Order: sequence, then C-alpha cells, then structure tokens
Amino acid sequence: MTHSPESLRQQLLTHLQLVHASGIDWLPSAPPLVISQTTKPADDASTASMFDIAEETAAAEGGLSIEERRVALQTLADEVKTCMRCAELCSTRTQTVFGDGEPGVELCFVGEAPGADEDAQGVPFVGAAGQLLNKIIAAMGFKRDEVYICNILRCRPPGNRTPLADEASNCRPFLERQLALVQPKFLVALGGCAATNLLQTTMSIGRLRGRFHNYKGVPLVVTYHPAYLLPHKHPEMKREVWEDMKMLLTRMGRPIPQKSQ
Ligand code: SF4
Repeated sequence: MTHSPESLRQQLLTHLQLVHASGIDWLPSAPPLVISQTTKPADDASTASMFDIAEETAAAEGGLSIEERRVALQTLADEVKTCMRCAELCSTRTQTVFGDGEPGVELCFVGEAPGADEDAQGVPFVGAAGQLLNKIIAAMGFKRDEVYICNILRCRPPGNRTPLADEASNCRPFLERQLALVQPKFLVALGGCAATNLLQTTMSIGRLRGRFHNYKGVPLVVTYHPAYLLPHKHPEMKREVWEDMKMLLTRMGRPIPQKSQ
C-alpha cells in the first residue's frame, strides 16, 4: 500500500498532536525516519524537518478537543511540579502554582507570581489580592470558574519579591504552552510584570493602559495588579481598573454592569 506525501504528512501531524498533547514537546532533529523517495524534494513531506512539523503541531493545538486540552494542561501541570529551573524558587516553594480554570474560556487573567497564600494552597489569586480580583471578575459579570487565571511565574519568589528576568524567562515556555492550550479569546495582564513579559516591552503601565495590545493574535488589555489596589496601597486606582475592564467588555460585546464593586 502506498501513501501520498500529503497522506504521510497528515498521519505524522496527527501522531505528533497526540504526542504533544501527552506532554512531549520536543523531538530529535534527526529522527530515524525515511519516507517516500518518489516525489520531488521541493514538496516532499520527507524534506520537512521535524521541527517544522512540530511547529505546525503547536499551531494545530486549536484542533484538539477541550478534553484533550484539559488532559494536556494536567500533564503540563505535572511537569511544572518537578521543575527545577530556578534554583532559589524551587528550593523555597511549598508547591508550584500552575493555574486555575478550564481550557476554552473566553477570558484569561495573567498576574505576576504566587504569594504566601497561593504557595500554601497551590492555587493562584486566593489571598487578599485574589479576593479583590474575584470582585473585579464578578463586577464584569463573570463567575470565577468562567475565566482562567495564571501567573508569569509558577513558584513563589521569597518575600514576594518581584520576579527576576531570568526566572520569568525560565517559566515562559510553561506560560506559552498553557495559554496555547487554554486558548482564551482575550487576555488581561495584571500589573507591570505581566505586561512586561507578555508584551516584551519596558513601557510603564500608565503608557500601556487604555488600548488593546496583541499577544500572539489575542487581544490583550493591561491594567493594575489587584495587590496595587489594596486599602494600604492605592485603592483610588480601582476606578482606572474599572475603566480598563469596561473597555474590554465593550470589545467582547458583553454588557457593562452599572456599578463596579
Ligand atoms: S518559576 Fe517556573 S521555571 Fe522557575 S522553578 Fe518554578 S516552575 Fe520552574
């Protein structure tokens, strides 16, 4: 039985999607694989590098079902649990804090890093700032389980210090894979750390607010981190955050509740 190059390519792509969904995200660059020698080199599937196809696989994660993405997210979370890339963080963390929510939701919030409460519970945004984020989410007309929440880092920096650039860089592949599997239609960067790392910019929040940005084709809004809005900091800035959320709701085509909370 003979297979056309396109058929072989499709079979290989399907196989790689399943491999990728199971958590394997790289393959050797010189696989022991020989495919058809009967077609022109220029359009022969055998001439495509495994990395080219792996990139297609990543792009094709949109083709995975919600259940496949849920499984892949759990596999990724399990991988994160054993991550030792940041020497200081993995020696001081109680546990990793992967994310909260389901794939396929419309909206995803990305914060900075777990704090003490999150480190203790293994869930992002469960402390004082998390309670405030819950109010923001409710004011927007969502339930918390209708959005996805994660951070730039999956481990708590000691003393809640700001993540270092190399820590954010270490954790970025996890974040990128996580967002590729969740596939939110809109993103909110909470605070300067999230904005800096998602948009690869050094611009201040003040200059990034009030307009839409683009993260891999997903509209992204920048606003202040809920911790910045706590009573002992800048509660007066809640007004600005609400303006940002109203701008987002309008773009999402959702009604704007009359009062913020
Ligand atoms: S912050 Fe991310 S990259 Fe660093 S140890 Fe934790 S999981 Fe690994």
